[in-house]
Amino acid sequence: MTDTPGTVYLVGAGPGDPGLLTRHGADALAQADVVVYDRLADNSMLALAPADAELIYVGKQAAVHAVPQPRINELLSEHALQGKCVVRLKGGDPFVFGRGGEEATHLRDHGVPFIVVPGVSSSIAAPAYAGIPVTDRRYASSFAVITGHEDPTKAESRVDWAGIARGADTLIFLMALTNLPGITGRLIKEGRAPETPAAVIERGTTPGQRVVTGTLADIEGRVRAAGLHPPALVVVGEVVRLREVLAWHDSQPLAGRRILVPRVRRRPSEIVRLLKAAGAETAEVPVLRSATLPAPADLPERLVGADWLVFSSPGALEALLEQLEGLGRDVRALGAASVAAVGPATAAHLRRCGLRVDYAPESASTFGDGLPARAGQSVLLLGEEGGADHVARGLAARGVTAAELPVFRLAVDDRAPLPDITEFDAVVFASSNTARRFLEAYPGGPADGQLVVSIGPSTSGTAEGLGLRVDGEAAEASPAAVVRLIAERLGPAARA
Ligand code: SAH
Repeated sequence: MTDTPGTVYLVGAGPGDPGLLTRHGADALAQADVVVYDRLADNSMLALAPADAELIYVGKQAAVHAVPQPRINELLSEHALQGKCVVRLKGGDPFVFGRGGEEATHLRDHGVPFIVVPGVSSSIAAPAYAGIPVTDRRYASSFAVITGHEDPTKAESRVDWAGIARGADTLIFLMALTNLPGITGRLIKEGRAPETPAAVIERGTTPGQRVVTGTLADIEGRVRAAGLHPPALVVVGEVVRLREVLAWHDSQPLAGRRILVPRVRRRPSEIVRLLKAAGAETAEVPVLRSATLPAPADLPERLVGADWLVFSSPGALEALLEQLEGLGRDVRALGAASVAAVGPATAAHLRRCGLRVDYAPESASTFGDGLPARAGQSVLLLGEEGGADHVARGLAARGVTAAELPVFRLAVDDRAPLPDITEFDAVVFASSNTARRFLEAYPGGPADGQLVVSIGPSTSGTAEGLGLRVDGEAAEASPAAVVRLIAERLGPAARA
């Protein structure tokens, strides 16, 4: 116990698309000591928490009961009372059918300070991704969000069905799949026309989104025929008609496709960004985390003695600054050395951090050729442990001796479980290293029928050397060419 309790952040994770997490939510995750999370449509946002944060899953899992609510409440207050910063991450918005109010009340009762970070609720966002505006001047001037959890055929239902049926133009039911026949029947009984348009949206805002439309009279049969599963919500009202012209999410080139992108670098890859822009769902595994290495005691002297500081990746500067901070020093310790960056992304990052970059070739592979260092000058290579050999070799060939100063190490982040390989339509090898990492994570290799693509001949060579199948190679070694190839081979997934 410490004297000052930590703060609990009740954070809305948004409806599924990880890009819909708010900036406040991301900031809270970045400071978390403990993250208590429910079943989320996308676990990638957990990687925003610090590498040493404790991740506690309290959601439902097939056949395993969810952690009971009183125990969740205790988990939050116990960790906060130990002085820790706790993030309680919930789907959608924490106060929309999320029991966030109960958790906040418990925290208030236990003297634990809390901050609520609202989230994008699935009740509005899933219709939006389905091309259904919940209000529209032409069709609806009000909407209501209602629990579908209560059986409308039971007398003791707490929902005012007569009021609901007439009270708002657009009705949005959450948790409504099981009771769908009861709900549509009851709305008709209370005076809604059987031909009122209705839609059911499964896994809204994710690449796996499926939408079934119909009317109050026939939607239940259509949903059963399509075999929709939770999480799903129901939208009732004239606005559903707008989907015919406004559906945008499911018409993207790779809509509904799931693609595995093994990754070795610290930053998200350009391939992943382009795949997402084409509507695909991506998983980057193994997700690596970067650990700053302990600083050598003579770090400040080595920096001052260097004529050139070569940063081999954007993460190298951050790790170096962290090392300096540990020694009670800061950016001024970099001294008067010239600064070089291996690759344009590193150069851009250094500039953003306020460093002038004296040398940064367009291509990392020719780095050593043009570095204007003279023989006899001292060059310090800052980067990933064991990651700068090729740069050092290139310089040695020109008579320049470079000393390696590893500042961070990349390790497989094994805190989040690896997704099942069979869930993916394609696997991408963006470099030889990613092929190696893939095989470490999935010793059984790709699944049958999965499309395996490589960025170019040398990566294909490595992959095939490891015994991995390669079904296609990009026309040129660029992220855009990789994504074009996948779109040509796969196209959008077949829809409900
Ligand atoms: N707090 C959440 C809702 C929690 S109740 C929010 O604001 O979104 C859980 C219900 O939300 C599910 O049963 C389902 O009806 C709905 N839901 C959550 N995510 C969804 C999604 N991606 N697509 C469709 N419905 C979703």
